[in-house]
Amino acid sequence: MLTKVVKFGGSSLADAEQFQKVAEIIHADPSRRYVVASAPGKRFKDDIKVTDMLYRCYEMIRAHEDAATIDAYYENICNRYNGIIADLGINFDISGELSYVRNALSHASGRDYAASRGEYLNSLILAKYLGFSFIDAESVIFFRENGTFDEERTNAVLAEELKKHEYAVIPGFYGSMPNGTIKTFSRGGSDITGSIVARAADADLYENWTDVSGFLMADPRVIDNPPPIETITYRELRELSYMGATVLHDEAIFPVRYANIPINIRNTNAPEDAGTMIVSAATGYDAKRIITGVAGKKGFSVIHIEKDMMNAEVGFGRRVLEILEDHEISFEHLPSGIDTMSIVVATQALEGRRERIINSISRLVRADHVEILDGLCLIAVVGRGMVKAKGTAARVFNAVSAAGVNIRMIDQGSSELNIILGVDEDAYETALSAIFKEFVK
Ligand code: ASP
Repeated sequence: MLTKVVKFGGSSLADAEQFQKVAEIIHADPSRRYVVASAPGKRFKDDIKVTDMLYRCYEMIRAHEDAATIDAYYENICNRYNGIIADLGINFDISGELSYVRNALSHASGRDYAASRGEYLNSLILAKYLGFSFIDAESVIFFRENGTFDEERTNAVLAEELKKHEYAVIPGFYGSMPNGTIKTFSRGGSDITGSIVARAADADLYENWTDVSGFLMADPRVIDNPPPIETITYRELRELSYMGATVLHDEAIFPVRYANIPINIRNTNAPEDAGTMIVSAATGYDAKRIITGVAGKKGFSVIHIEKDMMNAEVGFGRRVLEILEDHEISFEHLPSGIDTMSIVVATQALEGRRERIINSISRLVRADHVEILDGLCLIAVVGRGMVKAKGTAARVFNAVSAAGVNIRMIDQGSSELNIILGVDEDAYETALSAIFKEFVK
């Protein structure tokens, strides 16, 4: 039998109605054996996620607010869970768990412990509702002393534990430190848990169920009705998600990527949609679709350096980059000319140290001219089809210039998987639409 690991996000488990959809999806396919659950998310636009309520509770306790105020706030969390249980009509008493958590919160149990209870409690309910075993993430997902995820230990222990259960629910988002305390991944981290479980289960597929039918080819806030992406490679996705296309947590790709397990992004509210398949290597691409997607991000600056005969100066680049390293600034791109070097960095990273950086560069590499230019937007045109199709770069540039946009920077990686353009921030929408029209419509 195939094994699928299925992860359901917060909006998929926000209330009893969503729980019912989730159960229907799981029961429709017996290979959906291991379920990773998030905490209840938003039911409507201005609703508050349970995780955020738990963080708030933790803050209230730290601020020594009076117990009655905290109890009243905590009651809202209890109501979310009790409401789900009541509406599902299951016979499950979670009151003992809820008071245990309330008590633990008052006894210095830590911020991560507080946040993690959202998935813990939700997973208890889901396991009960589905009739699956419950495996506490605390006993199978491990972090090292320095806070990084301990892949080897986790994989060994988790794989053994999973073998003992035909069907199980595992809470997402957290694990434990060597001393037993709870630690969470960063926000949205249940995606990472799903990926870790898929690897340990040696799953055939990792289904990540959310509230959209996969990735779209472009940001729908800029482009009307962009078509969904059917298949995308891990590398293409990294390029696009780094640019801000967020459906899946960035770090969720790594565990399954090495194990060669595809991820399928699916929509709990439209289970008939095929969603997007994320694979390690796609065998082909649709010849009509040379590009897989296009995404952009504002807020970049260029450190522009000029020096005569720069190209003949051994170690020039290294010395410049060392200056950035000393300021703990990572760079995004490094397009260079013969006597010029441009370093693209996030504008925010320069905050409060512009003068110092300019001075250090001028002094240490004796540059003729150094300046910082702000207001750059980067647009990534991504597609595995670009390697084979001739003239893609020309089409991108023509489309953008025909729309009257000046291209400030170009960077095409030698992998030919992407072309990155830098344009003025206020030209972002125009440039993106022009590229999209050229390739998609
Ligand atoms: N509940 C956590 C969050 O809101 C983790 C997750 O949902 O993935 O960030």
